[in-house]
Amino acid sequence: MNTAVCIKQVPDTTEVRIDPETNALVREGVPSIVNPFDAHATEEAVRLKERYGGTVTIISMGPPQATEAIKKCISFGADRGILLSDRAFAGSDTWATSYIIAAGLKRLMSEQPVDLILCGKQAIDGDTAQVGPGLARRLNLPQITYAISIEEVNLDARRVKVGRRLETGVEVVEAPLPALLTCVEEMNEIRYASLPNMIRAARYEPEVWGRDDLEVEDELLGFNGSPTVVSKIFAPPEREPGEIIPGGTEDPTGVAAVIADKLIEALGATASV
Ligand SMILES: Cc1cc2nc3c(=O)[nH]c(=O)nc-3n(C[C@H](O)[C@H](O)[C@H](O)COP(=O)(O)OP(=O)(O)OC[C@H]3O[C@@H](n4cnc5c(N)ncnc54)[C@H](O)[C@@H]3O)c2cc1C
Repeated sequence: MNTAVCIKQVPDTTEVRIDPETNALVREGVPSIVNPFDAHATEEAVRLKERYGGTVTIISMGPPQATEAIKKCISFGADRGILLSDRAFAGSDTWATSYIIAAGLKRLMSEQPVDLILCGKQAIDGDTAQVGPGLARRLNLPQITYAISIEEVNLDARRVKVGRRLETGVEVVEAPLPALLTCVEEMNEIRYASLPNMIRAARYEPEVWGRDDLEVEDELLGFNGSPTVVSKIFAPPEREPGEIIPGGTEDPTGVAAVIADKLIEALGATASV
């Protein structure tokens, strides 16, 4: 069983800075980590390899420094790492990002069979959760989002059974292989990297695929290929602290009446309680 895992290197901070010129995220000099959801997706892929054999290939699109994130996944037990990196990819929104990563996956799938593609539910910086479903659409694969468990993989019948997290519980769904899953953090506990894997990761040089290594059209890359136009980025104004109405525990009905009156006043409504 061969899996491919899409991982993103993200800033290890909530203090994100935006370049006022390009409206793009400032990544230089900011400590980075593997997107936590993608770390769990990588852990799950390694566990599948332990159960069913096969290989785990990591794919990441990003600047050259993203090789560190790929090497981290090699230390988890992944076998191969590919960085999609080229100046032509800079400024890509989620539409262009999924286009480029899909091209990388198509090349990988032309070189070897891939049974399952794992993504994280979302990236903790962009937070759109769009790239996973975008990849499934571009590769014409069935997708299962919010995967919380992989119940069974039947390689003979080419099917996978997955537990999906819902607000009200978990549903178990099945899909034909190859398929794409987006994984939640509760899917597994990430194990400590073994010493041999850490040594291997330290020596490992990920392959780097640029624009000329992929079947892509220039006008669909980077800023040019990004329909999202960031018109303005600004930090929302600090919220004013709310009014504290005393007496909540002793006289909840009285407090509720005060709140209702304030709401009516605020809404300018003529209602009676
Ligand atoms: C106009 C514009 C310009 C931008 N310019 C840049 C820029 O120059 N540089 C930049 O880094 N970002 C840039 N961004 C942000 C970038 O588009 C998004 O961060 C990126 O498309 C991923 O979206 P997301 O973070 O919401 O990931 P999500 O959709 O939330 O990610 C879901 C999953 O998809 C996979 N995934 C997401 N991104 C990648 C990746 N890069 N490699 C592999 N797998 C991935 C992971 O499995 C992840 O868990 C720009 C955005 C806009 C709108």
